[in-house]
Amino acid sequence: MADLQYLERRRARRRVNQRSARIEIEMPIPIDVRKKPMDVKVRVTTGEGVEIAWSDGHVSRYPFDYLRDLCPCALCNDEREKNARLKASGGGGGAAVLPMFKPKVKAKGANAVGNYAIQIQFSDGHATGIYSYEHLREICPCEACGKEFRAK
Ligand SMILES: [Zn+2]
Ligand SMILES: [Zn+2]
Repeated sequence: MADLQYLERRRARRRVNQRSARIEIEMPIPIDVRKKPMDVKVRVTTGEGVEIAWSDGHVSRYPFDYLRDLCPCALCNDEREKNARLKASGGGGGAAVLPMFKPKVKAKGANAVGNYAIQIQFSDGHATGIYSYEHLREICPCEACGKEFRAK
């Protein structure tokens, strides 16, 4: 019986705590907090790519050539836009232009940019792309993220 009373008191106290903390509980979690990287591994020597473990428990794995293709720098953005326009205008007689053989791009090195991004030096000499974690989360190549971010 004494135990029961004790439990009852504890429960009551918890109720009070919940009430006083209500505003905090109902606040939406800011998106950048959920997407915070907890562990970032850039596997340059093995050439495996970048692995990021996020604060919401998700783990993203990016091959280096995938990141190279999605380089967010102004130059590559221009290039991608030009290619998209070319495709849209049906240039080249409608036939798909065969991609030139290129060796798979790897990374020569990488460094952190503040605490918001990483910069990768690619084996083709390109190094101007700064990959913010926010951007990286959006381009996560896994199926679940593809549905969430690229469905539209
Ligand atoms: Zn670039
Ligand atoms: Zn993902």
